[in-house]
Amino acid sequence: MARSPLSNRQRFDPSVAFMSTFNLSLLLLAFRPVPGTLFSPSLPLNPAIPKAVASVPKIETAARDRLNPVKQTVETTRQNVDRQVRSTYHLPPREFEGRTIHRVELPSQRRVIALTFDDGPWPDTVPILDILRENEIRATFFMVGSHLQSFPEIARQVVKEGHVLGNHTWNHQYYPVNDYIASQEIDNTAASLNQQTGVYTRLFRPPGGNLTNGLANYAARGNYAVVMWSINPEDTYGGSAASLADRVISQAHPGGIVLLHDGGGNRAQTVAALPTIIAGLRDRGYEFVTVPEILAMELEEQQVPAKQPLTP
Ligand SMILES: [Zn+2]
Repeated sequence: MARSPLSNRQRFDPSVAFMSTFNLSLLLLAFRPVPGTLFSPSLPLNPAIPKAVASVPKIETAARDRLNPVKQTVETTRQNVDRQVRSTYHLPPREFEGRTIHRVELPSQRRVIALTFDDGPWPDTVPILDILRENEIRATFFMVGSHLQSFPEIARQVVKEGHVLGNHTWNHQYYPVNDYIASQEIDNTAASLNQQTGVYTRLFRPPGGNLTNGLANYAARGNYAVVMWSINPEDTYGGSAASLADRVISQAHPGGIVLLHDGGGNRAQTVAALPTIIAGLRDRGYEFVTVPEILAMELEEQQVPAKQPLTP
């Protein structure tokens, strides 16, 4: 038997079509959404639930409000301890890592000044230590690695008496260097300072104040603070102790960093001038602090912006 192109089911029948539509309408009517049912967003399924959900952010806010001062205190304490520890361990505040410092700016104009001594350890370091001890002053000593090899005991005495150490290269290198030589000059000195005295320093002073021969740049990349000076009485150029003292005192300013030398030659003139320098500055109301201390003071007064984290 030949099949019809359309089966019975597929053939259009108006009565069937009407009944199907009618049945569908009934079905929809039976299950229509009514206000306040499942389909309504305002359905109060359990009155307690929306209330509890709404109160979660409030609890969080309240807890945060209570925790914020605690967190702040913890953070302040952490920063204070950090600064104290860093100062004790001959490190600048983190904010100064990788930066070059000539002087610190103190809006208060507080009369603080940092004495620094370069090119030791050296036999002349010993009488300088005596004078500093008698005057209860702590200073900062930028040491040369090769001199440290010759006078490690003097370096240990410097540390024992509470002074701060900085790195002044191995050979007092003035000339342009590549990273390999810079590493030998700076990293070897750092290792020797650590070996001989137990000190880990991140204070660097470039020999001759040269900021462009590759050494300062290498040190800055190694998170050293590159410490220059704002008062240079040129104590290695001869002249009388009195005139040397005058040159320091006349240039003194709040937040000043004084460049003096305890090593690398005959420093008798510096030794002779030091008591007059100290007395003259004290008469003018100056207190003596180390380099990490004076940097921390700037931080307290100026709110120096935190160092940006290194991007990978
Ligand atoms: Zn030097």
